[in-house]
Amino acid sequence: MHPSLCHACNNLRKVTTDTPPNGKAHYHGLVKKIAIIGGGISGLTAAYRLHRLGVPCTLFEAGPRLGGIVETHREDGFVIECGPDSWVAEKPWARELAVELGLGDEILSSNDHNRLTYVLQNGTLVPMPEHMRMMVPQGQPGMDALLASPLFTDEAKRAYLNEPSRAAELKSYAAAHTHDDESVASFVARHFGQEVADKLAAPLLSGVFGGSIHKLSVNAVMAPFVALEQEFGSLITGLASRQRKGVSLFASLRSGLGSIVERMAATLPEKSIKLREKVLEMEQKGPLWSIKTAHSEELFDALLLATPPRQAASLLAPVLPESRHLLPQHASSAIIIALAFRDPFPLPHGFGFLVPEGSSESRLLAATFVDQKFPSRAPANGRVLRAFFADQDMMDLPDSVLVRLGLNELSSILGQPLPEPAISLVRRWPDSLPQYEVGHRERIATLEAKVATLGVLRLLGNGYHGVGLPDLVRQADEAAQWAASV
Ligand SMILES: Cc1cc2nc3c(=O)[nH]c(=O)nc-3n(C[C@H](O)[C@H](O)[C@H](O)COP(=O)(O)OP(=O)(O)OC[C@H]3O[C@@H](n4cnc5c(N)ncnc54)[C@H](O)[C@@H]3O)c2cc1C
Repeated sequence: MHPSLCHACNNLRKVTTDTPPNGKAHYHGLVKKIAIIGGGISGLTAAYRLHRLGVPCTLFEAGPRLGGIVETHREDGFVIECGPDSWVAEKPWARELAVELGLGDEILSSNDHNRLTYVLQNGTLVPMPEHMRMMVPQGQPGMDALLASPLFTDEAKRAYLNEPSRAAELKSYAAAHTHDDESVASFVARHFGQEVADKLAAPLLSGVFGGSIHKLSVNAVMAPFVALEQEFGSLITGLASRQRKGVSLFASLRSGLGSIVERMAATLPEKSIKLREKVLEMEQKGPLWSIKTAHSEELFDALLLATPPRQAASLLAPVLPESRHLLPQHASSAIIIALAFRDPFPLPHGFGFLVPEGSSESRLLAATFVDQKFPSRAPANGRVLRAFFADQDMMDLPDSVLVRLGLNELSSILGQPLPEPAISLVRRWPDSLPQYEVGHRERIATLEAKVATLGVLRLLGNGYHGVGLPDLVRQADEAAQWAASV
């Protein structure tokens, strides 16, 4: 290969890639081949970033489309999310990516004036108190709302009122256990009692992670609250001192999150994306990685492994057998039933409801009143609802049965028969939410240290440092920059 001049900076280079679109950050060096396994938001973002840096890469995706769990269905004026529907607005990385992709004008804030979430309790949708950050009241408005809430007994309310005065005791506990992990249930119960753990933490956390608060690691899933405890002892006092105003809770895109996937995919050269190419084996050959699929075997200088943990475990096992025990052992599954209606019908004010873990009242995990949570999701007078199930044994039920079950559960909880939906979609996401169980952060640190000894390899995706889109985008960006520079 002959060196050529880079059109952007006039340096002699040995890469044959095009000058990146912005003509700024780009890579000069020997031709280097990078493989990415998995074309979800993690792998795709890494491929996009590498391409922007002027580094060629090959993205192997087992399925027929890019985006993984991120998928938007658009039909007759409805915008229906089949996986994630938003990102947490206070984390900037997904927003920054959207802006970079020319989607800045499309960014929507959640309708926070409508922000009310209910918990199903004794057959009734009981509103969760407003002005709460998860289970912690924000300032006086939060405490007032909590004291007025029918969700809690007087004992739980007393526990809330007392928590700030227990700051010294809580802080010294935190100091004595700085390096210890514990379950979310135990952390919440230490601050506010068991009732708050059961009634509020359990449905909130299982709504996001689909798992049990008795197993989830507080260090991995509630790190900001652990930091507040270390600094202030009291979470209520700590949060009051950190309060930020004016940031909406969630953000999304007018045309749906699928636009991020479509825009990134559109920038990549066709030959760099290999759909329906499941990687069967990765093997070290000297300093290189050999990647084997049913159709090819190719050598690469660097490898970004961006599959879910279960698939990562089987690919990594031959090169790093101990990875099996270090990767998350369990993942919860989700089934989404999305229903779009042309005609209006009344709904409780708010974003939706959660069902407490193990409830005998409903098999639903949660439901979202989509057109109330975000603008522009339905044409005038239309409605979009999403119902979530997490039962593994429902996975094999036919779509028509799942839609009927979803409609029946919603009708019964909302206390009204629902009209026939104009559009109904079912998506099954098996083992899609890895469980960050107690000790997760230490296990991942050990795993990453071992992976670092294997040559140019990084693990990406939702099994390691966060399941939300902003964190995944940030990690993919960092991994791409790293792979380009080593
Ligand atoms: C129902 C649900 C709702 C959610 N809602 C939100 C939300 O509102 N906001 C938010 O921030 N997050 C949300 N999340 C979390 C977030 O969507 C995921 O964590 C994220 O999309 C995972 O992206 P990923 O690229 O790491 O993995 P995935 O999207 O799972 O992609 C992994 C890809 O790897 C491919 N693959 C697997 N094995 C191989 C192989 N051997 N060879 C080649 N390819 C392979 C798969 O086909 C897949 O496409 C939600 C998750 C679920 C399940």
